[in-house]
Amino acid sequence: MPATSFANLIDGDRLWARHMALAKFGAREDDGVDRPALSSVESEARAQLVSWAREIGLVPFTDGIANLFLRYEGRNPSLPPVLAGSHIDSQPTGGKFDGAFGVLAALEAVQAIIARGEQPLRSIEVVAWTNEEGSRFAPGMSGSEVFTGRKTLDEVLAIRDQAGVSLGAAVSEVLSRDVDIPVRGFGFPVAAFVEPHIEQGPLLEAAGIPFGVVTGIQGTRRYRVRVSGEAAHAGTALRAERRDALMAAVRMIAEIDRAAISPDDIKLTVGLFQVTPNAPSVVPAEVLFSIDLRHPDNSIVDEMDRKIRHFVEAEHGPCTVEIKQIAHAPSLAFSTEIRSLIAAAASAEKIPSMEIYSAAGHDARQLHYVCPTGMIFIPCRGGISHNPAEWAEPEHIVAGTKVLAHVVWQLASRP
Ligand SMILES: [Zn+2]
Repeated sequence: MPATSFANLIDGDRLWARHMALAKFGAREDDGVDRPALSSVESEARAQLVSWAREIGLVPFTDGIANLFLRYEGRNPSLPPVLAGSHIDSQPTGGKFDGAFGVLAALEAVQAIIARGEQPLRSIEVVAWTNEEGSRFAPGMSGSEVFTGRKTLDEVLAIRDQAGVSLGAAVSEVLSRDVDIPVRGFGFPVAAFVEPHIEQGPLLEAAGIPFGVVTGIQGTRRYRVRVSGEAAHAGTALRAERRDALMAAVRMIAEIDRAAISPDDIKLTVGLFQVTPNAPSVVPAEVLFSIDLRHPDNSIVDEMDRKIRHFVEAEHGPCTVEIKQIAHAPSLAFSTEIRSLIAAAASAEKIPSMEIYSAAGHDARQLHYVCPTGMIFIPCRGGISHNPAEWAEPEHIVAGTKVLAHVVWQLASRP
């Protein structure tokens, strides 16, 4: 495919203005964004996207979980489309760029492709996946999980927010406000998916490189450990008689922490620790704690999983223990083909790039199970995200969007 540069086709001012305009939906007084999934402010942001898309001739579609697709039809509409985008929901203390950058970059990329004047072979669809963040309705990634068949629609529609509103009711509310947006089925064949995102970490900024080719997503395992002993009087119960759940729990945690020292990039966190009855003069009867384990290499995560289970068994003493793994998302590597396409596009656009892996989860995880998938990262100031201070430089946004346009054009031109 002729590798036309998109340098003069991306309108940086328009792209920045759209970021600022979208950030008004759910704007916080401290300059951040609070745009819960499927809320009325998110629904208004969605209507704004649809209106921008219609102005340039894109056709909106949705589905049973309110994912939003903005379609630019290719010369052969029957071929599976190329998808690009991210999400527009935010954390309660969110910023202007997490998710929004991916969707707006995709919209601008399509607009640049239209301006270039040659219709691509395949259709291109800008996508905003529903409930990526999982802060109003937990867990997140609902839209991409249902689309790719990782979860059923019914199990996701049943999730309730803190006010007791079901995700299903919130979806119906959003869909009822759509004007002339056809509802399609889930999981139609997709040629490829590319998700642009801010890094949400400090590596690109530290390296002084404006663009990251994402190699994969770090795996996680999450556990809950319940240690059960027996409550007893702190003054009278003899050491030999005690079944102290807290002492057993701290022995386990100390051993697990020691085991996680090497390699030094294992991320091990015990962030939740509950003692019952939690009274100063009572031997603790029960402790519940969490373990969050992450590393990009699955074999290291598996090895650490064995050690965690070993120390939990080895250190419970006179107490009983139950360990439950509540989540397991293996580390994944993105399509090498899409990665090289992204790297080549960056070099064609004369934008320095480096390989980087994602420490956080993204919708691209779900899509990578069903089609060739890749991600591009741009730096964010200080690595700060999920915070009103989140910031991306306009020139990095433009650079990321140029490369995205290049990649999407190439993907959509392939038979
Ligand atoms: Zn995000």
